[in-house]
Amino acid sequence: MVETTIKKHNFSAGPAILPQSVFEEAAQAVLDFNGSGLSILEISHRSKNFDAVAIEAEALVRKIGGFDDSYAVLFLSGGASSQFFMAPMNLLGENEKAAYLDTGSWSSKAIKEAKLYGNVDVIASSKADNYTHIPKKFQVPDDAVYLHLTSNNTIFGTQYHEFPETKVPIIADMSSDMFSRPFDANKFGLIYAGAQKNLGPAGVTLVIVKKDWLGRTGRKLPSMLDYRTHVDGGSMYNTPPVFPIYVLMLTLRWLKNLGGLTAIEKHNQAKAKILYDEIDSNPLFKGTVAKEDRSLMNVCFLPVNPDHEALFLDACKKAEISGVKGHRSVGGFRASIYNAMPQDSVQLLVDVMQDFAVKHG
Ligand SMILES: *Cc1c(COP(=O)(O)O)cnc(C)c1O
Repeated sequence: MVETTIKKHNFSAGPAILPQSVFEEAAQAVLDFNGSGLSILEISHRSKNFDAVAIEAEALVRKIGGFDDSYAVLFLSGGASSQFFMAPMNLLGENEKAAYLDTGSWSSKAIKEAKLYGNVDVIASSKADNYTHIPKKFQVPDDAVYLHLTSNNTIFGTQYHEFPETKVPIIADMSSDMFSRPFDANKFGLIYAGAQKNLGPAGVTLVIVKKDWLGRTGRKLPSMLDYRTHVDGGSMYNTPPVFPIYVLMLTLRWLKNLGGLTAIEKHNQAKAKILYDEIDSNPLFKGTVAKEDRSLMNVCFLPVNPDHEALFLDACKKAEISGVKGHRSVGGFRASIYNAMPQDSVQLLVDVMQDFAVKHG
């Protein structure tokens, strides 16, 4: 095996940390996939070997998330960003209305794309407060085809802890908290998630959609942009992202063996608690968002003294902590603590914060 350098504690927002065991299995499969004498990178997507991967990946998504046969599970390319337009293109008629909740940059991008296809009713937004909370007071019009929301706001560090009660199906961009906690699958008409935050490497987007919803607008669509093409072709109408799907499957196997969503939620709550407790008690740091809406995935915080920003990043670097610099629209720090982030790494970050307070307080 190739020697590796010291493994850093990666708090990056995405592409992000995956379980160490997954890195190792994936590395092995690049050299020799399941003792086939071939690399996973060179096998046909129509081979028996890969077929087994695709079948297991879909079965794991269904089992972990509780999706029955009325849903199609698709592995697509183009990132979550392509779903911003693909969802309304497939589901929203020109003279119909969709309700959107605006809770950050990703929601705004979804809104912009949806306007190309139908009427978009932005029923609530926290933009005026720089997206520091999740809007709670809004009414979803009964005549909307769907309600679109971003379940976790990767950049601003807010998250829905409860999904709205509505009469219409919800479309959710779950890119940054997919499979991080239990949820009621039946509330959703469509869920999409770019894999690179919580599910696998960049290059594949998980899409779960209610089959009987498809084709409802009658709009003519290019084959590749029509969900039905991928439902009919089992996500293999064209060459799918073979390696990203394989790594996603390994990550879901890991999640299932851990105990699924109930187990990972406990783990994620425990990690977030030790970090938020430190932010709230350490005099040199402060949180950026409303406490009740704090994300369990992306923890955003600021130095009380702006001069401390570079100093703290330097302290993190010395502790082999990487990826905690905040997004430019919030500043300060963002620690992304996705499913695969070990509690020990979060504790290390807390230790560095405490040490920092002793030295600079
Ligand atoms: C990262 C992210 C996206 C964009 O994903 P791509 O795969 O890069 O297109 C969209 N929505 C959310 C919530 C994200 O975190």
